[in-house]
Amino acid sequence: MKEPDGRERPNELLITTSFLVLPPGGTDTSEPEVQSFLEDLVEQLRQKIAAAVMELPHVSPCGNYHFAELGSEETNAHRCQQCGLWGTDDNQPDTLDGLMPVYFANDRWLCNQHYEMGVMNGTIPKPDGWWQS
Ligand SMILES: [Zn+2]
Repeated sequence: MKEPDGRERPNELLITTSFLVLPPGGTDTSEPEVQSFLEDLVEQLRQKIAAAVMELPHVSPCGNYHFAELGSEETNAHRCQQCGLWGTDDNQPDTLDGLMPVYFANDRWLCNQHYEMGVMNGTIPKPDGWWQS
């Protein structure tokens, strides 16, 4: 890949992680109190992440932050109804990077671990192309 100045630049990897946040004023990001909290939090995260990776060779922060309101019907995020972990449905087009996959079986959402346990103990029918970790 060439930079705008014509120099050759190798491809890089993007590693993404996620944080669960419970703003003290609630999760309605249209509320000024919540917006202010999130702006302050993002600045603190930016500084702490930059300090944390400063000593790691080959790593630089991208500085991009994405917010997803978990629990909203418009967001592809569901809680495992056994352990409470948030996950995203890989069968829908709007998956969220940073969340593990969840599966809908027997009228409830399950993380991959609890889904797999259900298939192995026979409470969930084996899907086509069954995988096992
Ligand atoms: Zn689970």
